[in-house]
Amino acid sequence: MITFEHVEKYYGKFHALKDINLNIDEGEVVTLIGPSGSGKSTLIRTINALEKINSGKLIVDGKDITDKNTDIRQIRRDCGMVFQHFELYPHMTVLENVTLAPLKVLKKTDSDAQDRAEQLLKRVNMWDKRDSYPSQLSGGQKQRVAIARGLAMRPKVMLFDEPTSALDPEMVGEVLDQMKRIAFEDNMTMVVVTHEMGFAKEVSNRTIFMAEGEILEDRPSKEFFENPQDERAIQFLSKIL
Ligand code: ATP
Ligand code: MG
Repeated sequence: MITFEHVEKYYGKFHALKDINLNIDEGEVVTLIGPSGSGKSTLIRTINALEKINSGKLIVDGKDITDKNTDIRQIRRDCGMVFQHFELYPHMTVLENVTLAPLKVLKKTDSDAQDRAEQLLKRVNMWDKRDSYPSQLSGGQKQRVAIARGLAMRPKVMLFDEPTSALDPEMVGEVLDQMKRIAFEDNMTMVVVTHEMGFAKEVSNRTIFMAEGEILEDRPSKEFFENPQDERAIQFLSKIL
């Protein structure tokens, strides 16, 4: 589903991703962890071409991102993304936030878009708030709407970049629960940057540890947490657990 081959990324002279090799199969849930500045956000953002790579090969759903003939808009459509700071459209209601892209991008009819939004908002327990504006919602509620909005496009992959980091502790669980459901019930391919080690251990098939732009470990989550090998990974885990 997603393949990185010798991917390199620079910001000017700064070498942000170093020889990234990675394969993520359909239905796999992969957690990305590592210290601040290690390149986690950069890596996840290359998947939907929010960041361009400098060399190497990156295939998303059979399409080569670096190929000039690849339609980047199609790749963005196939990748739902949820960020740390809920980037909902502030001037639109919850319902409008979820129906906008299906209407404008997928050219769905009003009733199709509404039906899908209803189904998704009910699922994330936000249907009652469909006429509220983002400023009237809690952080956890906004993030659940962001998840529904991502799913409304029927993506092939969901990318999460620290979706719970900006939330009050009591809101974290409800967002993680929704992510769990997407993993287990929808069998969605997911790449998740998170500091929630419980989620990494219980939900993700694999955990990838990055430091200074490199992948230092890429192993089944259970194995990784029981027995991390890399010295920096051991140190990192001792600080975070
Ligand atoms: P955090 O845990 O703090 O979110 P991260 O692992 O997500 O960190 P990135 O945001 O991918 O790290 O950044 C990796 C490195 O690239 C950092 O040193 C950062 O300063 C640098 N970097 C990121 N974006 C840019 C940019 N647009 N221009 C220049 N340097 C950047
Ligand atoms: Mg980041």
